[in-house]
Amino acid sequence: MRKALYPGSFDPVTNGHIDIMQRACKLFDEVLVVVSQNIAKRCTFTAEERVEMIQQSTHHLPNLQVMINDGLIAECARKQHAQAIIRGLRAVSDFEIELKMALMNKHLNQELETVFLMTQARYLFLNSSLIREVAAFHGDIADFVPAYVVECLRKKYNENEL
Ligand code: ADP
Repeated sequence: MRKALYPGSFDPVTNGHIDIMQRACKLFDEVLVVVSQNIAKRCTFTAEERVEMIQQSTHHLPNLQVMINDGLIAECARKQHAQAIIRGLRAVSDFEIELKMALMNKHLNQELETVFLMTQARYLFLNSSLIREVAAFHGDIADFVPAYVVECLRKKYNENEL
């Protein structure tokens, strides 16, 4: 059985991430989305909220599961018996960071391959921080994130103003 991890912060999950998940689900028997509990990166949503947003947006993907991880991805892959890590590439700037991470993960776990999927042209400029910025000013982000995430962002930024 071919199993892949798709790690990231997903703060929040966007249609660009969902597109990568859909394509990974066709390539692998099982895809495990790994939400990082990264203390260095201050997130807007808690890890539990980020998991919930992914779960609510991926009911159509029966071979996809979601978990939280706060350790090394290479270790997580070993524990989960995953053979691959999926990463999305948007621009040349992504490549440099991703190359370093892929080489380090290979060093930490020789059995692990990193598989890169190119973004679709329409998601080229889409990233979570841009979505948060626009949502904070109550801009329309409905074309870029799943409906459940639109609601979560609306609640989050209305709460913060109370
Ligand atoms: P980032 O790395 O931008 O902070 P994440 O950690 O949530 O965001 O991203 C997880 C993975 O998804 C990374 O490999 C990232 O390159 C990829 N990704 C993010 N947005 C997109 C997109 N619009 N299209 C394709 N891949 C994407």
